[in-house]
Amino acid sequence: MNFARTILALPHGLLQLPTFLPDATLGVVRSLDSADLEQCGIQAVVMNTFHLMQRPGSSTITSLGGLHKMSGWPHPIITDSGGFQAYSLIRQNSKYGHMSDKGITFQPDGSDRKFHLTPEKSVQLQLSYGADVVVCLDDCTHVDDSFETQQESVRRTIEWARRCKNEFQHIVEQKRLSQEERPLLFGVIQGGGSHELRRQCADALLEMSFDGFGYGGWPLDSDGHLLSDIIAYTRELVPPELPMHALGIGHPANIVECYRMGYTLFDSAMPTRDARHARLYAFTTPDALPAQREGKWFSYLYVNDDKAIKNDGPVSRFCDCLCCSRYTVGYLHHLFKINDSLFLRLATLHNLRFMAQLMERLRTEQNEQQGIQPARPAY
Ligand SMILES: [Zn+2]
Repeated sequence: MNFARTILALPHGLLQLPTFLPDATLGVVRSLDSADLEQCGIQAVVMNTFHLMQRPGSSTITSLGGLHKMSGWPHPIITDSGGFQAYSLIRQNSKYGHMSDKGITFQPDGSDRKFHLTPEKSVQLQLSYGADVVVCLDDCTHVDDSFETQQESVRRTIEWARRCKNEFQHIVEQKRLSQEERPLLFGVIQGGGSHELRRQCADALLEMSFDGFGYGGWPLDSDGHLLSDIIAYTRELVPPELPMHALGIGHPANIVECYRMGYTLFDSAMPTRDARHARLYAFTTPDALPAQREGKWFSYLYVNDDKAIKNDGPVSRFCDCLCCSRYTVGYLHHLFKINDSLFLRLATLHNLRFMAQLMERLRTEQNEQQGIQPARPAY
């Protein structure tokens, strides 16, 4: 495996790879502020076009100076295209919207407004938000969908990628953005579980030339297992020097597995959602690399459990976050039981520090292999 790229240069700073991006869905990582994220060693966040176009809406975001200014986050932001959320909504119930070659129309439950998302609109929105990485709108599928559905998805994804790229180039030229100022544009590779379709999609997108790629489609099978074979195959279709984002893959063990395949960008709502539900992550050793302790290198600590009541130790002995340096598991249990908002902040902060530490351990391993001194992001 060739891990040629260890740094990704973006308009709002350099990303050291691999890196984990928490989901700041509506422009905020719930219960944390930007300084908390910096303290955790988080380098970048993902924000969701689909949700932000509804709340607070693109004209409000523009009035507030774009996503960076609005959220007080001066570091890189990747926006998604909105396609995955629209797909999930329509798949859940077709009364919420429909998809055609033109684009996606949807009306979320309880909303009195219809929203239209075309490839051009998705790119316009992401650029108006000030994103560092813009992602092409794609036609998402589930691996269990029929071959015909996957074929249709690949055809549409390629066509939409072409329209996204044209719109992106048009706006970049119009705004006269230099090479350093312009965001990166990522294509998304679809094709379900079919090697043939994945190759067809990757070849067409590579010919159009993008700055990086995302693995498209639901990444788990119906039993919740990672689709390792097709995810690894898809990575091999793209030259190693082009970064690949394992979209939505966030379980720590799955991240390590995808990293070993050559993926270097990860985002998921899982660590922050788990934190809010009192499921905290802890390394079982101070420095062992995941590969050396397959399956046993981290454990869960359930703070709402009765066993936590009189636990006077930290969540993890190997964590340097605010939560672990200052508070006990028993105190966290108490905060959880009385529904204090401090619990949400401390628990989220801890799980994100765990994810950042996991990335640091992987980077250390990578740097040792390449003979480079490891470094933490400096703010
Ligand atoms: Zn901690």
